[in-house]
Amino acid sequence: MIFYGSNARRINHGKISNVICPDCGTSTYFNYSVFGKYAHIYWIPLFPVGKKIIVECGHCKKTFEKKELPKEITQKIIPVEKDSKAPVWQYSGLFVIACIIASIIYAGKVSDRKELEYLQAPAIGDVYSYESSEDNHYSTMKVVNILDDSITVSYNTYEIDKKYSTDQIDKEENYEDFQEKFSLNDIKELYSKEIIYEIKDTK
Ligand SMILES: [Zn+2]
Repeated sequence: MIFYGSNARRINHGKISNVICPDCGTSTYFNYSVFGKYAHIYWIPLFPVGKKIIVECGHCKKTFEKKELPKEITQKIIPVEKDSKAPVWQYSGLFVIACIIASIIYAGKVSDRKELEYLQAPAIGDVYSYESSEDNHYSTMKVVNILDDSITVSYNTYEIDKKYSTDQIDKEENYEDFQEKFSLNDIKELYSKEIIYEIKDTK
């Protein structure tokens, strides 16, 4: 179960002078409080969702919401409510989410860069995940020999239908004797076409 909803916190307060109370008729001042509503999930504030201003007569202490007040007074309190900015902490959940997304993107970039390094300098034992010619089938090939500008790979005899689960079939006994030689340029091209889409080194 996900706990979410909204909460309110007082974000501003002060006095408005020269008003006539609609209840007691006294020419007096009003105390005001502005409440900032915010959405939360598991009590972590996500973002502000609105504001509410409450005023209290300085003389009779009666409290009013905006809609209960005459136009002369609402004209004075609307700008006050507008100027009451939601505090930054009301966005903390969004900030956390943004950080999580940024770190996922960063991790993806780091792993892309690593894969390019592996392509540039292949090592025996590197495992390439590739999309098989059959739709939605994936398998692996393992580097078994390296010459100056070419590599020899051994094919996995198994295929799997989950793109990022090739780990499950990457077992020593699954690699067959059938081998194929590729130039490094061919391998780079397969990678740029995303036929080879994942490279793991076993070092
Ligand atoms: Zn009053």
